[in-house]
Amino acid sequence: MDTTAAIYGRVGFAFRKASMASTSADITMTKILAIACVLTGLAWNTAACAEEPAKKAAAPTPVAAADGPLTEMDLKLREALVKGASMEEIAKLKEPLARTPQEAIHALKSGNSRFFGGMARRPEISANERRAQILQQTPFAVVLGCSDSRVPIELVFDQGLGDIFAVRVAGQIVDPGTAGSFEYAVKHLKTKVLVIMGHEGCGAVKAAMLPAAEQKAEPEHVRYLLDQITPAVTNIANIRDPKAKMREAVMANIRKHVALAKENPVVKAAVATNQLAVVGAFYEISSGQVDFLETEEELRLN
Ligand SMILES: [Zn+2]
Repeated sequence: MDTTAAIYGRVGFAFRKASMASTSADITMTKILAIACVLTGLAWNTAACAEEPAKKAAAPTPVAAADGPLTEMDLKLREALVKGASMEEIAKLKEPLARTPQEAIHALKSGNSRFFGGMARRPEISANERRAQILQQTPFAVVLGCSDSRVPIELVFDQGLGDIFAVRVAGQIVDPGTAGSFEYAVKHLKTKVLVIMGHEGCGAVKAAMLPAAEQKAEPEHVRYLLDQITPAVTNIANIRDPKAKMREAVMANIRKHVALAKENPVVKAAVATNQLAVVGAFYEISSGQVDFLETEEELRLN
């Protein structure tokens, strides 16, 4: 085993050891030490590192990590750890992808452009940054999307670990459960944008357009989901083209749930202070493209 592999093997051991630690303080400290040790790039002995982190940190020797070369962020983390930064200071080192609602929407649009253009970066941060994420999460967006397996939120927006607070339920309905999730994201994680994203060919919307007798044949909780969608899709204009009609129904369902989300008091307060924007989005499975519904006109109910 080469030196680098040995380092990572020992870090893995430290994390397993941390997971067995008896108190949360032990867990946190051991994890910090493990991060500190790998960032200082030293071939180390778990016990020695735990006993003498300051001594090890004082003489860093950069190495290419087993998971790839050290990134700019790795170097920042290492510098902070050597200076004895606190957990909060370390967590704050991550450059936010978006500081305003406008920047957040732009980041999602750019990510989707990369995705549908075949240029996705699949931003999987380095192993060191991933380990540092144990300290805090700082997603810039909360996205409520459908559970459909063809609509994975992070992939569609080409975002990485820690970037999106994703909430998924068939038909992307706003109900007490999903509202609780985005209230948490807005209030505690200070997300900059709330997106309600429907998609082309949504089975939940299609089922909600079936006659009541057919819906009644579904299990209880499926009926509950359909009940949250049906009112939005019962008065769809008489569009003859079935594909166009389905798109219009999905759009109507998105608009209804954006309106419901906007009535939420936590969301309302964040919008009033310009912390948050609430938008709709339509994901087209066939092209990979997301159309955003942002203006009052685009989000108007009927
Ligand atoms: Zn769906």
